[in-house]
Amino acid sequence: MKSFLITFKPLTESPERGWDLNDFQNTVQRHNLGKQRVVRWRFRNRHASYGDRVFLLLQGKKGPAILGCGTIATPLGKQAKPKEQSILFDALTDPEREVLANRADLLAIKGGESVWRTQASGIEIPAPVAAMLESLVVGKSPKAVNSALSSNSDWTRDELILVLNLYLKNPASPPRKGSKEVLSLSRTLNRLRTKLFGPESRAGTFRNESNVYMKLMNFRRFDPHFRSEGKKGLSKDVKADEEVWEEFAGDAKRCQRVADAIVKSLDDPGVDSVWLDAGIDESFQTAPEGRLLTRSHLIRERSRKLVERKRNQVMKRDGKLICEVCRFDFAIHYGDHGKGFIECHHTQPLVTLPEGHKTHLDDLALVCSNCHRMIHRRKQWLSVAELAERVRKEARFRKSSVR
Ligand SMILES: [Zn+2]
Ligand SMILES: [Zn+2]
Repeated sequence: MKSFLITFKPLTESPERGWDLNDFQNTVQRHNLGKQRVVRWRFRNRHASYGDRVFLLLQGKKGPAILGCGTIATPLGKQAKPKEQSILFDALTDPEREVLANRADLLAIKGGESVWRTQASGIEIPAPVAAMLESLVVGKSPKAVNSALSSNSDWTRDELILVLNLYLKNPASPPRKGSKEVLSLSRTLNRLRTKLFGPESRAGTFRNESNVYMKLMNFRRFDPHFRSEGKKGLSKDVKADEEVWEEFAGDAKRCQRVADAIVKSLDDPGVDSVWLDAGIDESFQTAPEGRLLTRSHLIRERSRKLVERKRNQVMKRDGKLICEVCRFDFAIHYGDHGKGFIECHHTQPLVTLPEGHKTHLDDLALVCSNCHRMIHRRKQWLSVAELAERVRKEARFRKSSVR
């Protein structure tokens, strides 16, 4: 029995001969669910035959690593295509999550260096190296890929909106990995990350061109023009992609407006990384437009000076401060202690916020703390009028059910 090496390189690193990572991940998933045991693989070696051992090598930046092992399942004397073999895998892993043997394992195998550098799929592995590989992978559980390698996880909504915006400009032919659009977006995403989470939040390769390009292509799976099978059982990361797709893909103009507003907020010194999301408690949901614009909204409506001016203006005009939704009056309910207190809600759409840095007093509505939280409770924030309507409806309903 001989042993052979077959190879996988992500499409993002090898546009001609690579394999789309998502496709491969789907294959891994089908395999692990028992739905597809045999996978056909490019294989250039006429000396391989039924029952020979096969190891799958991950090439490229995240390699070398072993992603799978199995045996050749093409029946003797029968080969569908001359440069292809059917492989029956006994283990197959998703390189974003785990591997059977990592770089350190492979580099420790004596005589292996030249094997791991191979470009072709189907080279024979020298027997001593193959024996070491067997002992590394057979009967062992896969190893988790450490987080430094997965610089491609945890995409925020803000980032996804920016990537989708680029995708929507030309879905038929998105910019290539080395294009200036992808490079420029990669830089923007790094600035955004710093703004959202502080400078220490980034790994060296964070959102590099490969990551950005891959995410760009990820959106294709939702695009009806390109959609193929394999949408089931998507990972959490993919669900976030899908949500953003569903909210924005149908309206490219809105996506553009929101993306522009996010990029503009990057230059707004008022929306600083010092002001972290600690201020957004659980009753304040991040808006569909993402974290940065949510933060920008909350900063504006919590500006002491501004709120003070608004309260003074209304006090002068009406002689009292009452909630525009439920008419709650802090001064009446709490007496002296509540006098002069009320919160402000910024009523303008999030995308218009970064335009001018000035907030007009007319853009603020007076609301009690309860109503303010109810406005922001779900991702689709309610308007003051919408919440007031709900309050009225509930009150009418209570009245009629009492009788
Ligand atoms: Zn209220
Ligand atoms: Zn508000």
